[in-house]
Amino acid sequence: MTISRGMVFDIKRFATHDGNGIRTTVFLKGCPLRCAWCQNPEGLNPKPQVLYLENNCIHCGSCVAQATSAGVRMENGRICLNRKAEENWNAIVDACPTCALRFDAREYTLEEVVEEIKKDAVFFQYGGGLTVSGGEPFLQADFLLALLQAAKQEGIHTAIETTLFTSLENVKRILPYLDQIYCDCKCYDTDLHKMYTGVSNEQILANIEYVLKSPYRDRVIVRTPLIPEMTATKDNLQKIGKFLSSCYSNVAYELLNYNPLAKAKYAYLDMEYCFEENPKLYTKEQMENFYQIVRDSGIKNLIIE
Ligand code: SF4
Repeated sequence: MTISRGMVFDIKRFATHDGNGIRTTVFLKGCPLRCAWCQNPEGLNPKPQVLYLENNCIHCGSCVAQATSAGVRMENGRICLNRKAEENWNAIVDACPTCALRFDAREYTLEEVVEEIKKDAVFFQYGGGLTVSGGEPFLQADFLLALLQAAKQEGIHTAIETTLFTSLENVKRILPYLDQIYCDCKCYDTDLHKMYTGVSNEQILANIEYVLKSPYRDRVIVRTPLIPEMTATKDNLQKIGKFLSSCYSNVAYELLNYNPLAKAKYAYLDMEYCFEENPKLYTKEQMENFYQIVRDSGIKNLIIE
C-alpha cells in the first residue's frame, strides 16, 4: 500500500466501544501476529480474501461454472473453496447472484476514507471521532500516518487500537497525531507470547514502556484480553500489572472479558478456532478476581466498564 491508498476491511459507523463518544472505526487489513483467539480473523491477511456465507447460498453452481482451476467445487451440496488456486476471483465473486461469495476488503484512497469519516462529523461534536483498528494498523504505517494527519486537519479526535508490534521509529512518528492509544499487553512471558501469538513480545514491551514514559502517557490505555488458559492466568496478570505500574504508576489499564462471539467468523474463512468447546464470558465474580490480582500487582487506575 502507498501513502494515498490503504487496504480496508471495514468501516464501522456509530461505534461506542472503540474510544470516547461515538466513533467511526476504520479497520486496516493485515496483521503480523497470529493470536490463537483473534477476534477479527478476516483482518489477518493483508490481501483481500473471498468469504463464503453459507446461509446466503442457493446452490445454483454459478461459481463452480466460472472456476477454471478447481478453486471452487461443490461437495455434498456445499461450496468448497481453495483460496490458493490461481483463479479469476473477481469473476467468480461477480457470478454469485446472492453475494454468498464476497471479498472481505478493498483498497480505498485516502480521500474516500476521509469522506466516509466526515459523514459522521456532526456526531463528533459530542466527544467522538475516528478510531483506526485492524488487523494491525501499523502494518500500513504510511497510510495510517496520512489518515491521522488528514483527520487532525479536519479537527477530528483520533484513536488507535494496536498491538504496538512495530518499530519504535513508527511509534515516534505517529504518536503526536493520536489523542487516545489503546494498546494490548497480552502475555508478559516471551515464550508464551510467541506460542499464543506467533511473535516475540520484546519490541511490544519496549514500545509500551516508551509510550508510558512519554509525554503522551495519559492518552494510553493498556488492555489485556482475557483468554481462558492463555492470558487469563494469575501469573500472567501479576507480571503485566507489575511491569505496567513500574513504567508509569498511574497507567490506565483494562481487562477485556473473553468474547465467545468471535468463533462464528472462523467458519466464513474455513479457519479453525482455538477452542473446540467455546468457553463462556467470565462472570462478574470471576472478573472481580482478575481485578483484584492486577490491583495487588500495583495497578491503581483500572478501567471498569
Ligand atoms: S454462485 Fe453463490 S449462490 Fe450460487 S452456488 Fe455459488 S456461492 Fe452459492
